[in-house]
Amino acid sequence: MTNEEKIIDVKKIVEERKETLKSKIDTLKAKNIFPKLCVIVANNEEASRSYVKNKRKVCEELGIIYEDYFLKENVTNDDILKLISSLNNDNSVHGILVQLPLFKHLNENVILEKISEKKDVDGLTINNLGKLFISNNYILPCTPKGIISILESVGETFEGKHAVIVGRSNIVGKPIAQLLLNKNCTVTICHSKTKQLEKYTKDADILVVAAGIPHMITRDMVKENSTIIDVGINRVNGKIIGDVDTESVLSVAKFVTKVPGGVGLTTVLSLAENIIELIEKE
Ligand code: NDP
Repeated sequence: MTNEEKIIDVKKIVEERKETLKSKIDTLKAKNIFPKLCVIVANNEEASRSYVKNKRKVCEELGIIYEDYFLKENVTNDDILKLISSLNNDNSVHGILVQLPLFKHLNENVILEKISEKKDVDGLTINNLGKLFISNNYILPCTPKGIISILESVGETFEGKHAVIVGRSNIVGKPIAQLLLNKNCTVTICHSKTKQLEKYTKDADILVVAAGIPHMITRDMVKENSTIIDVGINRVNGKIIGDVDTESVLSVAKFVTKVPGGVGLTTVLSLAENIIELIEKE
């Protein structure tokens, strides 16, 4: 296998899934159901603006109505809770997403919890995360859902494999660990207090890296023939790079995702898929 063939063509995977999704959206529209996503942004982060722009672009391309709410720094928890409440009660809205992070004075847990379980397009309410925990998935968090689709598309098998996750956030690390556990992987979760990280990463058949540290994973830290999923998005000297030094691990790994052009693409598509899934569950 050449190094080029080892880089997973996520764009192609996404384009194929888009076709399936478009036909589902057409079917809904024929029934006078017009899928609509509302996104709430309460931060001043440039990165969030670019993620949100991307979400709008993909939604519009697929024919999903997209509306965003950019809130100012003086916004209160109450203001956001009221906004979410009105979106929860608006029958024309099918999905609500709160773009993270939030301004420091806001209470993320309380705000996310306010989203109706039935409009929780990112699968981050306690109820929906709890369902993932008992393998009774309602709606899956977008990034982990996308990661599983990438692994499946390259024919990765799960049972008995050692999956190592670097990072334990509620939106990536913990849910992907649970999904892989549900698929009968043996799962190790690493974090900033893990000692001798390479001891674990070197034993990973499937390595998922979501730490937000540019190029932290290098050739000497990965297992021969492993599949490596790079979730990290880091801006370094005006360039976007991942948590994995892709060039260096290519000589050892079987498959690697690149950044940009990797997991981020499936995250956005999973979001669009989740809106349609929520409508279909109604
Ligand atoms: P968080 O900052 O919430 O979590 C980072 C995690 O990495 C924490 O659990 C932290 O440990 C762990 N960590 C930090 N340093 C180390 C270290 N030296 N060794 C091992 N673990 C470490 O990040 P997110 O999960 O939200 O995001 C992670 C990365 O993925 C970011 O770059 C983000 O931009 C990107 N991202 C990409 C998405 C995509 O679609 N491609 C979607 C979401 C995020 P501890 O818990 O101990 O602090």
